[in-house]
Amino acid sequence: MIKPAIKTTDDFYKERVSSGRKVGVINLGCARNLVDSQVILGQLKRQGYRPADAACADTVVVNTCGFIEEAKRESIDTILDLIELKKKGKLKRIVVAGCLAQRYGKELAEEFKEVDTIIGVRKLDRQGVPEQVPLTPAHFAYVKICESCYNRCSFCIIPAIKGKFTSRAIESVVREVRQLDGRGVKEVNIIGQDITAYGMDIYREKALARLLREITAATRNIRWVRLLYAFPAHVTDELIDTIAREEKICKYIDIPLQHISDNLLKGMNRGITTRETVDLVRKIRARIPGAHLRTTFIVGLPGETEENFGELMGFVRDTRFERVGAFVYSREEGTAAYAMPGQVPDRIKKQRLDTLMRAQQDISLSLQKEKIGRTMEVLLDEPQQREKNIYLGRTRHDAPEVDGTVYVHSTRTLTPGDIVPVRITDAYEYDLSGETL
Ligand code: SF4
Repeated sequence: MIKPAIKTTDDFYKERVSSGRKVGVINLGCARNLVDSQVILGQLKRQGYRPADAACADTVVVNTCGFIEEAKRESIDTILDLIELKKKGKLKRIVVAGCLAQRYGKELAEEFKEVDTIIGVRKLDRQGVPEQVPLTPAHFAYVKICESCYNRCSFCIIPAIKGKFTSRAIESVVREVRQLDGRGVKEVNIIGQDITAYGMDIYREKALARLLREITAATRNIRWVRLLYAFPAHVTDELIDTIAREEKICKYIDIPLQHISDNLLKGMNRGITTRETVDLVRKIRARIPGAHLRTTFIVGLPGETEENFGELMGFVRDTRFERVGAFVYSREEGTAAYAMPGQVPDRIKKQRLDTLMRAQQDISLSLQKEKIGRTMEVLLDEPQQREKNIYLGRTRHDAPEVDGTVYVHSTRTLTPGDIVPVRITDAYEYDLSGETL
């Protein structure tokens, strides 16, 4: 069996294929990977491929995720599924791309002889607006403004996978957003590994606030601009004020804090202290009334004691975040934390995760209940029961894929992409229910 060809990304994207060959992409991992998958499809289309659903394509690109154990397992399982399809003659070519391929290219080539091509992650195009085949519904889009990050959090392998921090030029981002605006997109989600470092490489300053002002000024149809992946230590007063002032910018900030204890924030090289974190959250809440904070925490970091965990639980209960995601620490080779003392047993990690998410469930339910009786703008994503005019949507405070849903009951037929006023009639841990006016 021939060993898979580990191709440089450029070689792979120079290949010409006979027109009509169908290619599909399976996207794993985060929204940043989804944008990469859209760019991969756009590029392959230029090479003669015809984008198609992966289930009926003869070439499938699996854009893998490789930053923690669980994600690696999912990527491997997907590759194995594709190999089975190929053995049954249902697939001609398997291409493995993305973070797992970048991190373990050689190992994958050794392990999976049935894979045809392995390519790494793509460099971010600073100036251009690469052609993309959208993989999101027509009314919302992700716009990746930068790649990788300056930070070196001790538990994280991403900078080692993604390389040097790279920002796109403001002109390039605004051009892309204008194209989306012209296509009638209503919601743009601004993403990167650390969007708050945007511009530090090319403009020698944190330029996210400036970029946002240019985006809001340049758009007509786009109603919602959402920020995902802000790095706490890089959030500036200028950014907070711009979010507060610009009507289009959702009063929703995704700011992964990971923990609150000083010894762990220091050990994890987060560049911020307990005091500074608490002050930052207070400042955001004071300057942006009604702001919804999404954050993530990691439990079971090396050195985390019962006392540390107790401190984290106290912080979660006091701060009452509107949206929380939590993960158990994944010990990743190649990271500084891998060799740290005080590794926490998996059983304890799991217990702490359950405890934290149970507490957050109660907090989230009580915060959601405060919305009953209010009228909120809801962006409709899809019909749930078309014949009964029931739709699934989101408020400005719900990011796609990761946050709650609003069940919208209407007396008339509505269209995905519509933004409608909805009176909230019921609330659940993460979701809401309401009726159109
Ligand atoms: S900010 Fe930290 S956790 Fe996030 S990608 Fe960068 S190094 Fe990883």
